[in-house]
Amino acid sequence: MTQQAANEDTRADVVVVGAGFAGLYAVYRMRTLGLSVYGIERAPGVGGTWHWNRYPGARCDIESLDYCYGFDDELLAEWRWTERYAAQPEILAYLDHVADRFDLRPHFEFNTSVASVIWNEATKSWLVTTDHGETIECAYVIMATGNLSSPQPPAIDGLNDFKGTWLHTGNWPIEPVELAGKKVAVVGTGSSGIQTCTAIAPIVDELYVLQRTPNYSMPAQNRPLGDDEVNSVLANYRERRTICEWSDAGTPMPDPTESALSVSAQERRRRYEQGWQMGGISSLSFAFNDMFRSEEANGFAQDFAREQIRSMVQDPAVAELLSPHHHIGTKRTCVDTGYYQIYNQPNVHLVDLKSEPIVRMNPGGIETTDQQIDVDVVIFAIGFDAITGALADVDIRGVDGFTLNEAWANGPVGYLGVQVAGFPNLFTITGPGSPSVLSNMVISIEQHVDWITEAIVHMRAVGFKRIEATGAAQERWMAHVVELANQTLYPKANSWYVGANIPGRQRLFSVYIAGCGPFRAECNRVVEAGYEGFELSRGTSDRESAHV
Ligand code: NAP
Repeated sequence: MTQQAANEDTRADVVVVGAGFAGLYAVYRMRTLGLSVYGIERAPGVGGTWHWNRYPGARCDIESLDYCYGFDDELLAEWRWTERYAAQPEILAYLDHVADRFDLRPHFEFNTSVASVIWNEATKSWLVTTDHGETIECAYVIMATGNLSSPQPPAIDGLNDFKGTWLHTGNWPIEPVELAGKKVAVVGTGSSGIQTCTAIAPIVDELYVLQRTPNYSMPAQNRPLGDDEVNSVLANYRERRTICEWSDAGTPMPDPTESALSVSAQERRRRYEQGWQMGGISSLSFAFNDMFRSEEANGFAQDFAREQIRSMVQDPAVAELLSPHHHIGTKRTCVDTGYYQIYNQPNVHLVDLKSEPIVRMNPGGIETTDQQIDVDVVIFAIGFDAITGALADVDIRGVDGFTLNEAWANGPVGYLGVQVAGFPNLFTITGPGSPSVLSNMVISIEQHVDWITEAIVHMRAVGFKRIEATGAAQERWMAHVVELANQTLYPKANSWYVGANIPGRQRLFSVYIAGCGPFRAECNRVVEAGYEGFELSRGTSDRESAHV
């Protein structure tokens, strides 16, 4: 779609915001319904998170053969993943391929941000305004804006005095960044920081890793995927996909059934070692079913992980600083290929921000309470305003001018993660109250987009024009989501899952912890019960069908 094509009279059935995994699939599905779709994407191309996070070492932590679309058999057969865990360029190439193969690009206005999304009760439609001043009137809005797409800006005194280059992993430039032979500081040791440090340690002159809190990182055990392996997976792909869809995490690994407390110490160790060899984000969590519920079971896995760190890092003092002490898994576990080993290199220096916090930046680099660190480049890997950020940035006003930020004043809420009460015909993909970031995102995205598609098909079939989650259903659902989370160790951690990384944010664990399968079953049940918890109407003042 060219910018000239959009003008003040633009109308569409559906506006889709975002051209990542979710937005591309949403456009595809809406188009199959014969609806007119207007896509808006702030980046110059497709890819979403895989467009922006092109920092060195960026790689997926879900296996490539599962972190891909499953909706089209020909697409599955023709695309060949080259590694067990795909690197960012390969995932972006895949999404480019999908966009071209299904001719999705012409539906999108790129380099365009959504400024406001305003509900008009009189016309039962949304008015979407872009930063270019275009307005699009539409019946439905699908916010496919991602959960980790609003990078947290660095708030450090003196940032602008720094004479070198500073970058954020979540907003990495498209143009190549030369780091070879440079002195580089990386601030932050979550997934992005760990991947960046591992990738650049061999090429930079000096690397200073500024760590506030250590994280657990599991070995990826990444490897090339051979034709035989891919062919054998593809031969039974439907079965594998169904297992993913009905599993907890959206992956084909069987969900564990035994408690870590029910086996001997030797057997526990055997299973942890087996998991470590298998590799991946679930190396330790797939061994037993109570790692996230029992302090004791979690403690066993922590001890094992810390022991591995000590065995990989030669300097015991550095190993101790790299050893986390929070409940393993309650902050997103990282996945690496050789992260801990970089600390055995003479050019890599761990800076413990707990004992020597950053004071300010200055022309030469970073000043901590103990030292001046002179560098050419500072890379901030300090994370995102997760779950809410990308939506909170947009002025979204629903019924009676109620804003989304008002709805989320006490933390992000939603009904089945797909709608927020007060915002009719506006859908969120993998929003609050869904398994989202605790699952294989592509599995969850397809499920949500399919659910929305079916809802729209139903509404059109029976002549309804308005669908809105009721406040009562949302309250009930979020109480259930929180109750389930409180049975686990997750809410105890100062993680981005609860918004702890955003100063002043009301803590709320809004992710549906029971997993993809139970969530899918509940979404299906709601439909079978006549869209229980949603109010559907013909768009007149009389509700033709009301469910609470
Ligand atoms: P993150 O997990 O939120 O980590 C941010 C890091 O920056 C933490 O170590 C944090 O320390 C530190 N930090 C934040 N503000 C700081 C400050 N002012 N001064 C010093 N340190 C500061 O962010 P992320 O690494 O970008 O990852 C976010 C999520 O994106 C991941 O959890 C994952 O879900 C996803 N991701 C996935 C992959 C993958 O698939 N492999 C790769 C990258 C990202 P504290 O812990 O002390 O706050």
